[in-house]
Amino acid sequence: MNYTYLIFFFILGTILASFYCVVGIRLPKKEDFIFSRSRCDICNHELKFYELIPIISYIFQRGRCRYCHKKIGFFMPMLEIITGLLFMVSFYSFGMSYNLFIALGIVSILIIISVSDITYMVIPDEVLIFFSIYFIVIQYLNLGLIGCLEHIIYGLFLFLLMYLIMLLGNKIFKKESLGGGDIKLMFIFGLILNPILGALSIFIASLIALPISIIFLVKDNERVIPFGPFLLIGLAIIFFTKIDVNTIINMFNLI
Ligand SMILES: [Zn+2]
Repeated sequence: MNYTYLIFFFILGTILASFYCVVGIRLPKKEDFIFSRSRCDICNHELKFYELIPIISYIFQRGRCRYCHKKIGFFMPMLEIITGLLFMVSFYSFGMSYNLFIALGIVSILIIISVSDITYMVIPDEVLIFFSIYFIVIQYLNLGLIGCLEHIIYGLFLFLLMYLIMLLGNKIFKKESLGGGDIKLMFIFGLILNPILGALSIFIASLIALPISIIFLVKDNERVIPFGPFLLIGLAIIFFTKIDVNTIINMFNLI
């Protein structure tokens, strides 16, 4: 294992995490996220480049803004560390391959959508369009035209499947059960997985989301839990464990 690459991908992840956070927070508000300067969330003071170094700036400033001296909060450095680690795991699992670029894409969309879905309960269309194109290009390079078209059909299939689940959910719960973003997100799942694994990742996402939703429902009846981050965690679990359809069939045979 090449440690230089592992460190490179960790650092790349920490740098992109700050950018992803800005995209997730500013894009739904239609704010510029490329050219506007970063500011302190509390006093709005413009930050210099050496105050934006992932993790390091936080440690040297002891978790406080240098201008207003208010606590910055542990959210940013934690997000940077998580993204860095996931980037490192991506390289560790897939090496230099097309699958590495799929893994990095999954981690990136997971971070951006978690930020926007948790903050606003919104999955921005721009993010879905960008990553759809990203994954189509990679699958074209990886599998050729036919393989890529197959995945586009899988995407449409999973999109329809989720749409039907929503209609069913709306009938059972008598209120909106799934957001439009969750349904559109399924197209991206099909670009990466086949329909069986795609459906399995929805199932895993529900298994993880259910106990957490119940805890929040008990605490606060009005609170709605965004499903997008759970769906992407389900997708990441299926993709990173490299599980295939045969393994699943064998598991059922054992039972
Ligand atoms: Zn400040």
